[in-house]
Amino acid sequence: MKIVLLGVQGCGKGTQAKNLNEMLNIPHISTGDIFRGAFSRNTELGTLAKQYMDRGDLVPDEITCGLVSERINEEDCKNGFILDGFPRNLNQGKALSNITNIDLVIYFNLDPKIAYERLVQRVTCTKCGNPCMPGVTECPKCGGPVVHRDDDKPEAIKKRIDIFLKDTLPLADYYNELGIVRKLDSSGSVEQTTKNLKKLLGEFCD
Ligand code: AMP
Repeated sequence: MKIVLLGVQGCGKGTQAKNLNEMLNIPHISTGDIFRGAFSRNTELGTLAKQYMDRGDLVPDEITCGLVSERINEEDCKNGFILDGFPRNLNQGKALSNITNIDLVIYFNLDPKIAYERLVQRVTCTKCGNPCMPGVTECPKCGGPVVHRDDDKPEAIKKRIDIFLKDTLPLADYYNELGIVRKLDSSGSVEQTTKNLKKLLGEFCD
């Protein structure tokens, strides 16, 4: 199954993508994680992407679309994949449609004000990328050090949420016309959202 996760930053896409990866055994592809990984390995791509990321801007489409196209053509994606953070605008959505057909779009429904509150408090593990509860100093999953991401600072968060509302949200209409969007209530706890997700998948697969 080829799945796209759509939703405002802080809605829990990344966390639920990891659950989906375990449930369906298809790779979780996060463009944000790819860019952060490239930066931590000191690659040219990483250095370039970091400049956009720190400001809360999108990395240019030419770079991002090429990267995703290569990734989803890899052998481990032959039975499907979970795209998290891509597409982010209509241009990317259309580029993706030219490469492959998506089966399901899960739209994580969350009030952007709640998303903002979640993000200003969020800390992230530098080792495994796990978003952690505020106040912890090491990741409860892998013990790695946690940081407050540069793009989780108030100005960058505001910009990222604005970009979501202006550029990413129109994708929900684009995919709605194809009849493949399912809405997921993600306003509750991680556990509650996981329950909602399992129900949604069960209904979709019936
Ligand atoms: P995320 O972890 O998904 O919030 O992504 C972090 C940052 O990576 C974003 O704010 C962008 O700068 C960049 N990024 C991730 N995915 C994309 C994408 N599909 N298009 C452009 N930039 C992206």
